[in-house]
Amino acid sequence: MQGNLNVQTENIFPVIKKFLYSDHEIFLRELVSNAIDATQKLKALASRGELKGETGDLTVEIEVDSKKKTLTVKDRGIGMTADEVEKYINQIAFSGATDFLDKYKDVQENLIGHFGLGFYSAFMVADKVEIFSKSYKDEPAIHWSCEGNPEFTMEEDKKHTERGTDIVLHIADDCKEFLDEQTVLQLLRKYCRFMPIPIRFGEESVWVDSETEFDEVDDGNGGKKKQPKRVEKKQPRIINDTEPAWKKSPANLTDEDYKKFYHELYPMNFEEPLFQIHLNVDYPFNLTGILYFPKVRKTIDPNRNKIQLYCNQVFVTDSVEGVVPDYLMLLHGVLDSPDIPLNVSRSYLQSDSNVKKISTHISKKVADKLEEMFKNDRKDFEDKWDDIKIFVEYGMLTDEKFCERALKFALLKNTEGQYFSLDDYRDKIKALQTDKDKNVCYLYANDAEEQHAYIAKAKAKGYDVLLMDSVLTPHWINLLEQKKEKSRFVRVDADTVEKLIPHDDSIPEKLSKEEQEKLKPIIEAEVDKKKYTVQMESLESDDAPMLITQSEWMRRYKEMAQTGGGMSFYGEMPESYNLVVNVNHPLIEQVLHEEDADKQKQLVHQLTDLALLANGLLKGEALTEFVKRSIEMI
Ligand code: ADP
Repeated sequence: MQGNLNVQTENIFPVIKKFLYSDHEIFLRELVSNAIDATQKLKALASRGELKGETGDLTVEIEVDSKKKTLTVKDRGIGMTADEVEKYINQIAFSGATDFLDKYKDVQENLIGHFGLGFYSAFMVADKVEIFSKSYKDEPAIHWSCEGNPEFTMEEDKKHTERGTDIVLHIADDCKEFLDEQTVLQLLRKYCRFMPIPIRFGEESVWVDSETEFDEVDDGNGGKKKQPKRVEKKQPRIINDTEPAWKKSPANLTDEDYKKFYHELYPMNFEEPLFQIHLNVDYPFNLTGILYFPKVRKTIDPNRNKIQLYCNQVFVTDSVEGVVPDYLMLLHGVLDSPDIPLNVSRSYLQSDSNVKKISTHISKKVADKLEEMFKNDRKDFEDKWDDIKIFVEYGMLTDEKFCERALKFALLKNTEGQYFSLDDYRDKIKALQTDKDKNVCYLYANDAEEQHAYIAKAKAKGYDVLLMDSVLTPHWINLLEQKKEKSRFVRVDADTVEKLIPHDDSIPEKLSKEEQEKLKPIIEAEVDKKKYTVQMESLESDDAPMLITQSEWMRRYKEMAQTGGGMSFYGEMPESYNLVVNVNHPLIEQVLHEEDADKQKQLVHQLTDLALLANGLLKGEALTEFVKRSIEMI
């Protein structure tokens, strides 16, 4: 028989080739999926007793013949009769493709694969495709052939007697890479690694004990013994794991199994995951998968070990934007759902209601898991907190519902390494750290080394100091201030310890207002006025004579501007600090009463440098000079 595929589709082949160019490797996924589907249908028939004879070996085989320039996908599935080829290949598949291309004319440029052009995607890489198929039904085998134009031939094939289908692709000259064994192997591993029927591609070598050859080796007692030689053996190379962990019941999996699967997914990653969440939903949508929490310290590479999206064990993509809430994009693992529309553009994906439900569900499951860990094994949760806090903080900042849940299990860590829930911490500090306006003041440091002097002072007053060193800290504490009424976060170096948490009592000033007025210009003359604002303050006489502070708000907004958040105005402000002068310190009194102008100058210089030094702000030439001057003074 000869026929014409469809008049309207005259120009479909160049279209297939051109528009799908960037992703034409998916042809292999499409053809192998079809082979797997046909095999599963056969298994279903057999299990219902509707199949005459044996199923036999159902392994799907991929063969590359570089001489004949063919790539063949073979299955022993249900096969197709002539009528079925007519119906499924000649008509339906084709109209499906044209419909598709009609519908998405305007977005063709953005379309990178994933729309199930199915069988016809073979023409992205082949200039001739043949089908040899024998149905499980008692009907003759057929041979169909088409050369990438609207004509095809179809005839009975007497030679082909075995049930199943061979799809033979005559690879086009500009697609020769698909005749390369390594390329094909990689593609199979990418798209077919977890398909549910064994897939064989070529052979592989394994080293085994020989049954016939032996070596003589020492037996450890001065004698000799025989030991089988290790010999190379060829065996069929099966490229897939037909029962991936996410398809199994969590009850049957140990922590070790999950870790093993993690390494199967990411063979190049040698880190262990922290813990995992096994998803298993069948209503109102279908979703299975395993999400792993990786160890995250300061550096995150979003392009490594990405979450992989599958549709019934067929790899689809590892761009999961829209399907997974933003803050979980840095997790690792797999998601498998037949309910995610895989064949459309990303903007559509984001507005799809199933996708929204899936995203919400994942978020809820993650909150459930974290809360369960918090409640059931607090110690373990605390051990993991430093690695997961970035997810929790980011989640709280971007997902209202998650935030409400996380307020219960989010932890604060103090500079002594103790962890507290938000409520517990508030109770702990309430008594001493409530200011005169009834705000509970949370003191924090972001660098325990650098802010050591400030931390020590705060502790000496009986205050507790938190360690908050995540890149999201400024945003996160802003959020906590909104969520927890009457809360104020202040970094320990934002003010003098008296003013960090202002109480009503103040220390009497030793210098009069006039004396302070006289002193101020003397000090201002020695510092960069654009950067430092000189402030007279009444501190304890045994506090430092001078110290540097930086306003909480100014600093926090500058930091937020750096990590994004639409506050670039603050980001552009120059760095500015306060130079606080302790008017009760004897050395400050000495400055005021020094009559030798040079000596006075030197003293001020030395005091400001000491303050800068304590703050890590004295650098380069200024530091060298300071050292030199100090030695001279001694
Ligand atoms: P889809 O798989 O999305 O239905 P395809 O164009 O890939 O679209 O295939 C069309 C139909 O052709 C399939 O639904 C199936 O009935 C039939 N078919 C394709 N490949 C095979 C095969 N290897 N064995 C049996 N039937 C097949």
